[in-house]
Amino acid sequence: LVVLKDVNKHFGDLHVLRDINLTIHRGEVVVVIGPSGSGKSTLCRAINRLETIGSGTISIDGKELPEEGKDLARLRSDVGMVFQSFNLFSHMTVLDNVTLGPIKVRKVPKAKAVERARELLTRVGVEVQEKKMPAQMSGGQQQRVAIARSLAMDPKVMLFDEPTSALDPEMINEVLDVMTSLAKSGMTMVVVTHEMGFARRAADRVVFMADGEIVEQNTPEEFFTNPQSSRAQDFLSKIL
Ligand code: ATP
Ligand code: MG
Repeated sequence: LVVLKDVNKHFGDLHVLRDINLTIHRGEVVVVIGPSGSGKSTLCRAINRLETIGSGTISIDGKELPEEGKDLARLRSDVGMVFQSFNLFSHMTVLDNVTLGPIKVRKVPKAKAVERARELLTRVGVEVQEKKMPAQMSGGQQQRVAIARSLAMDPKVMLFDEPTSALDPEMINEVLDVMTSLAKSGMTMVVVTHEMGFARRAADRVVFMADGEIVEQNTPEEFFTNPQSSRAQDFLSKIL
């Protein structure tokens, strides 16, 4: 579904993505882990062209992502993205946050968008909060609204960049539970996270990055019990 071929990216002299080749199949859940600065966020941002790439190609559903133009807006709306900071529109109610994209970008009639938004808010467990403003909610609730807002666009793939890193410990699980059920429902997902429990439970594949490279990738069972590279062994010894 998502295919990256020989993707390279520099920030000045810094080579942040090195010959990245990665294919994410429909329905697959790929967890990306690696040390700070290894290029995980840049990889996510490249997939929906929040970041340009120096060379190589990225395609979604067989269509190569253009650098800009109206095709970019359409292709980008196929990719949902959830960040560490919740990025809700702070001046809008929860319900408006979730219906805005479908109404403005997808041209869904308002009543239909509201109905769908309520379904999604129920799915992430914040349905009684639809009239609240984001600031009136906990971080965990806001992040679940952010997930509902992304899902409202019917994305083909969902990218998560450390979605629980900014949350208090007691709220991490409520967000991971929503992500786990999304994974079980067949959504194609790329998840950058330090939550190894989630990786073991929900990932079909773990991709380990270091210094801009994909160093190794494997099933979670294999990766965690039998990492091949010294860099992965070193990384795991520090976090497990
Ligand atoms: P973390 O785990 O800390 O989030 P990461 O794996 O997501 O790290 P990236 O954010 O992708 O890493 O950054 C990769 C490298 O690129 C880092 O060395 C970072 O300092 C650098 N970098 C990221 N964004 C920029 C930018 N806009 N300009 C210059 N350098 C950048
Ligand atoms: Mg990052």
